[in-house]
This record gives sequence, structure tokens and C-alpha cells, in this order.
Amino acid sequence: MSVFKDGVSANSHFLNVLPDGTAAPPVDRIPLYEVYMRMAEELAKRSTCARLQVGTVVTDQVLENVLAIGYNGNARGLPNRCDSAVPGSCGCIHSEMNALVKAPGSVRDKVVFVSASPCVMCAKLIINSGVTHAFYRKAYRDPSGIEVLQQGGIVPVLYDRWVREWR
Ligand SMILES: [Zn+2]
Ligand SMILES: [Zn+2]
Repeated sequence: MSVFKDGVSANSHFLNVLPDGTAAPPVDRIPLYEVYMRMAEELAKRSTCARLQVGTVVTDQVLENVLAIGYNGNARGLPNRCDSAVPGSCGCIHSEMNALVKAPGSVRDKVVFVSASPCVMCAKLIINSGVTHAFYRKAYRDPSGIEVLQQGGIVPVLYDRWVREWR
């Protein structure tokens, strides 16, 4: 059985996995995964979507460089609100789309942190953007996006274990 530095067994990101039989170290510092998740949550606060505020951070594989950020909202230059109040057709660009459209395509093995699990279309974009892991804080009401991520070989990681610590 592998040992996971942050105590989250779904987190198979290479920096989090220790060899079998290693003693699990204490988690005495905030994991970087948690730091980036909090950044995604802060970004969500800037969303002007009336339905759901979501934030995204995209990093490189070693978690040292933020490649792009995003939150959901209307296109630049358009009115800063939803086009429609009809659920499912508010017209906002999703936070994952807003981040991935700015993330360099030439950088592969990206890591995504999103405050709510992606919808099916965003999951497909994540697959095609060269992402290995997609961390999310909360499962969106429709879990189909998480299933699509798995089908595409991306590791979805529900990341809420440390939400209350280091505040
Ligand atoms: Zn909206
Ligand atoms: Zn989406």
C-alpha cells in the first residue's frame, strides 16, 4: 500500500506518493494542493454568475508555476452578468474554460484545481488540455463530469480533507 503525504488516498499525484512501507509523515504544513484549492475558492468570489460561482487554477506538474486562472462569467466586453436566468443556459463561460483557454497548450501534464467538480464539456476540455489530475472541493450536483474525467484517464480528486485547517 502506498503512503500519501497529505493523508488523502485519492491523491495519486507523484509528489504526494511515498514508497510502500514508508512511515506516514505528520501533515504539519498546509499541503500545496490545499493552497491552490483555496486560490480557486478565492477566484470564485469574483464570478458574476447568478447561478453558481466557480474558480479554477491550472498549474504545471511540479506545482511550482501557476499557468492560468479562471472564474465563470460573461465574455470580456459583454455585460458583466448572466445572459439569461434559465438554469443551464445562463450563457457564462465556465471557470475551467476561462482558465484552459489561457493555459499554454505546449505545456503538458498540467494539474487543475477547481472549486466545484467540472461539467461534462469542461471535463472533455480538461482531457484534451493535457491534464493529469483534477482536484475539486465539492461534487457538483451532476457527477457525470467526474465519470468523463475517469474515462479520459484523468485522476479526479475530491479534496476537502484540510478545508478547516490552517485558517
Ligand atoms: Zn451565469
Ligand atoms: Zn463546465
